[in-house]
Amino acid sequence: MVKEARTDIKWSELGFGYVETPYRYVCRYKNGAWEEGGLETEAKITLSECACVFQYSQSVFEGLKAYRTEDGKIVCFRPDLNAERMAMSAARLEMPPFPVDKFLEAVKMVVKANEEFVPPYGSGATLYLRPFMIGTNPVIGVKPAEEFEFRILVTPVGPYFKGGAKPIYIKVSDFDRAAPHGTGGIKAGLNYAMSLHPIVQAHKEGFAENMYLDPQTRTKVEETGGANIIFVTKDGKLVTPKSESILPSITRRSICYVAEHYLNMPVEHREVLFSEVDDFAEMGLCGTAAVISPVGRINDHGRIIDIPSGMEEMGPWTKKLYDTLTGIQMGRVEAPEGWIVCIDE
Ligand SMILES: *Cc1c(COP(=O)(O)O)cnc(C)c1O
Repeated sequence: MVKEARTDIKWSELGFGYVETPYRYVCRYKNGAWEEGGLETEAKITLSECACVFQYSQSVFEGLKAYRTEDGKIVCFRPDLNAERMAMSAARLEMPPFPVDKFLEAVKMVVKANEEFVPPYGSGATLYLRPFMIGTNPVIGVKPAEEFEFRILVTPVGPYFKGGAKPIYIKVSDFDRAAPHGTGGIKAGLNYAMSLHPIVQAHKEGFAENMYLDPQTRTKVEETGGANIIFVTKDGKLVTPKSESILPSITRRSICYVAEHYLNMPVEHREVLFSEVDDFAEMGLCGTAAVISPVGRINDHGRIIDIPSGMEEMGPWTKKLYDTLTGIQMGRVEAPEGWIVCIDE
């Protein structure tokens, strides 16, 4: 039996903020092995002041959503890819990978336990899952921790776009998100710490996001602080930037598949020069939170680039991609094998 969503929460009025829920999944790593792991009720973590996570930021994370489909199931979207990406992120920071099958079990366990906090179908709200792993033992000489904690917290979040997805205005940043051969390709908190100053600045200047170029040559498009970029050419081809320092977005990979297999769009995943941006017809940012946010205008050091689809609505191809992918997620469009994982199975 699937429990209904709580009726004392105004789901569609929720923002994107932390709301404590009753259960979190916790698994600790000690003496070279992961323990059994399970649900806990305590939301606070007590650690040594010298824990590696506090001193040297040894921390990686993931983000995915659980939601109700039209036929009353609670599902997650491609959680196996989050599990694999987290293992890759962990390896880059000298942390033990959390086993993929254990990750998938943990996702189901923690969503099931907090079932009443999975918002109702059609509310636009979802249950956001935040898996993360930190180095927990005291470390003062620079080296990796030997003890770790893997956790998944869940928090209900409101609809990303209240009243439809309006195109946004972004700026080309003078800061870099990731160094060449650095950690841009993994999901680590350290990639976000350095983006806080640029995003606060950008917001003060009236921009929704920063667009980062490749740090080595500043001639190629990378991504924004927390979303990959998609472009559509005037003849209906999907183009997505390729670089070692771009985080491999699951949404972007899914959009490429949808373009090719559902919409018959040619797809190119390749280096994209910033100078090409003037020629594209449509542009969007993609990630788990918003799925796709259309971009209408870019400010490149005072030079305005107007994306032809404009500031009023999503471009037609972007809309088709958005509708098809969200249709697959919500169970209205048939999903490719394995994309939708029911938490009761
Ligand atoms: C998480 C993240 C994304 C989006 O990835 P999804 O798997 O689609 O949610 C894009 N860029 C960065 C830097 C990220 O951290």
